[in-house]
Amino acid sequence: VPIDYDPDAQPSNTPLAPYSLLTHALVSLSETRSRIAIINILTNLLRTIISKHPSSLLPAVYLLSNSLGPQFIPIELGLGSSIISHSIQQISGLTSAALKRMYNTSGDPGDVAFAAKSNVRTLIPHSPLTVPYVYESLLKISRCKGQGAGKAKQKIVDKLLLAASGEEVRYLTRTLCQNLRVGAVRTSILTALARAFVLATPGHNTAVEPNIAKPLDTENITEEYKKAEGLIKQVYVKHPSYDQIIPALLEKGLDSLAERVPLAVGIPLLPMLGSPTRSLDEIYDRLRDNQFSAEFKYDGQRAQIHASRTPSGIPAVKIFSRHLEDMTSKYPDVIGLLELVFATSDNLSSFILDAEIVAIDPTTGEIQPFQKLAGRARKDVNIRDVQVAVCVYAFDLMYLNEKPLLERTFRERRDLLRSTFSPRKAPQEDSNLAYFDFVESCESEEGKSSIEEFLLKAVEQRCEGLMVKLLDSVPADETSAKRNSRTKSLPSTYEPDVRTSGWLKLKRDYIDGMSDSLDVIPIGAWHGNGRKAQWWSPVLLALWNPETGRPVALCKCMSGFSDVFYTAMRAKYSLDSDFCSKQPVWECDLGGFKPDVYFKPHEVWELRGADITESPVSVAALGMASSTRGLSLRFPRFIRVREDKSIETASSPSFLVDIWKNQQGKKTSLGGKDEGE
Ligand code: ATP
Repeated sequence: VPIDYDPDAQPSNTPLAPYSLLTHALVSLSETRSRIAIINILTNLLRTIISKHPSSLLPAVYLLSNSLGPQFIPIELGLGSSIISHSIQQISGLTSAALKRMYNTSGDPGDVAFAAKSNVRTLIPHSPLTVPYVYESLLKISRCKGQGAGKAKQKIVDKLLLAASGEEVRYLTRTLCQNLRVGAVRTSILTALARAFVLATPGHNTAVEPNIAKPLDTENITEEYKKAEGLIKQVYVKHPSYDQIIPALLEKGLDSLAERVPLAVGIPLLPMLGSPTRSLDEIYDRLRDNQFSAEFKYDGQRAQIHASRTPSGIPAVKIFSRHLEDMTSKYPDVIGLLELVFATSDNLSSFILDAEIVAIDPTTGEIQPFQKLAGRARKDVNIRDVQVAVCVYAFDLMYLNEKPLLERTFRERRDLLRSTFSPRKAPQEDSNLAYFDFVESCESEEGKSSIEEFLLKAVEQRCEGLMVKLLDSVPADETSAKRNSRTKSLPSTYEPDVRTSGWLKLKRDYIDGMSDSLDVIPIGAWHGNGRKAQWWSPVLLALWNPETGRPVALCKCMSGFSDVFYTAMRAKYSLDSDFCSKQPVWECDLGGFKPDVYFKPHEVWELRGADITESPVSVAALGMASSTRGLSLRFPRFIRVREDKSIETASSPSFLVDIWKNQQGKKTSLGGKDEGE
């Protein structure tokens, strides 16, 4: 993008969407919490863009989802608050002290910018902002690197804020601060995209809807919506990139979208997830005596490895985290290993495999604690500097030699995995390459007592417990005959982004306490007392509610933290930082909790507890377990920071309810509850 990008000079057959159109939708979104209303607004916005400004659809979707590109391409805006406040000073003529006073009252930079600019009379009108211009400007900011980057960023922000008017100023500023504060979460955007494209197909009323909040016409097309939503979501979980999905939709609509945007090497799919269980009995019950394989649940880092042979012979390899971040530069030793694999196997052209990377002792092959792995450098590691040896424990194969395997059973995928690759176990002479092995497993045919022994072995070898996987898919009618009751089918296919009953996890401490740990978001704290007077304690922790796109407070926690951790937390969440405020400036549902300070929700901690209780203060899962009370956690204990998780992947209220139901001995159904159904 040239530095002085001019929207009007961009080649385009259709007019570019005005930024005011998007802002209008954002204003409407901020006025509602109803999911139906949110979907209506987004659909009306997107159908307008599809019919009048199709070239603006991709940037509009990115701006709505508060991102600049797919998750697996790291694009950092890297904009400090000083640049934004300097721009606001410039355009409003207000002093920095005046702006600070305004900020202390409202707590939101968008509101401050809006108020500051509303008093300014512009003599020369600026040409209106367009959606692509705003998006491209953000990309330009992210590309400013090295000397003079600050100045260049300042110039772009000045230009944007100068051209913005009315509500645009508020939302542009929030976008620049990467805190849009509206509930346009991924699922809502995908649903709205599907509906907008249904409405854009011939035969439907494609007229642009001037009233953005108008309810959609659902008569006669509910089934069509459902089909389209299912299709887009199914495509997205296998290929989570709007960069490909949106051009494909614009080109030929929903028709054969799955074939045109397939699973592809180099683009990470959303990982399959395990459902928590409480005991081996529960596992046998949920799997209804069908054959399974119990595997070690290693405590390392999940790695989705994509590789393909290039004409030069050197394979193109990418490694993605559970959260789809590109970790390729973190693991040169794994890349080296894969080069070796390609060099020694003639019949291999491409694959995608699922594995856990675990720190090991290279001389004994013994599994090392997670902290060892966590100590490795994160980026741009040179293979000569690798100090902590790792083993790639492979457990699934999703793609092999140009063929997707997701629809195959786990038994078939596992056979292919084991016949295609060979272990490279410790100890080895040629150091610094990663080791490779299949996960250790025990088959259900060996009997329940063998599985129990296997669990003990897993724990002894520093694993978190077991992952229990159904080997063959079980259709619904067959299980009904067995059980004489209405039961769902049990899938053993690879289901991206779903916690199915085909993958069950059993953690080491299932006997006492909660069946699973929770991943929670710190959102506030109180001043500590006594020994903890200089620290924040307790800390207020929240679940992530995907329905509202916001954290919802769960419980206070003051145990499990070391003094070193308390000190670091106090320094990080200092009131002078961007992470802590006396005002509730970040969108969270607090229920009855009133902390002394509020934290910016941006990190995830793992939490354990004795059990889940009903609470009059918490609004987490309100209405799901009891109509008047939320759920909370008894004796919460901090375990560790989950650096591999973003707040949107923290535990949800429905996950908590599942554990609570298990705890109550109430099961939702014999087959368990599958997310995404
Ligand atoms: P947790 O907090 O338990 O790690 P999670 O939310 O990260 O859970 P889950 O689906 O609950 O993910 O558990 C599966 C995780 O366990 C995988 O993401 C993977 O990192 C890890 N794991 C370790 N061993 C295995 C295995 N044999 N099969 C599948 N996943 C495994």
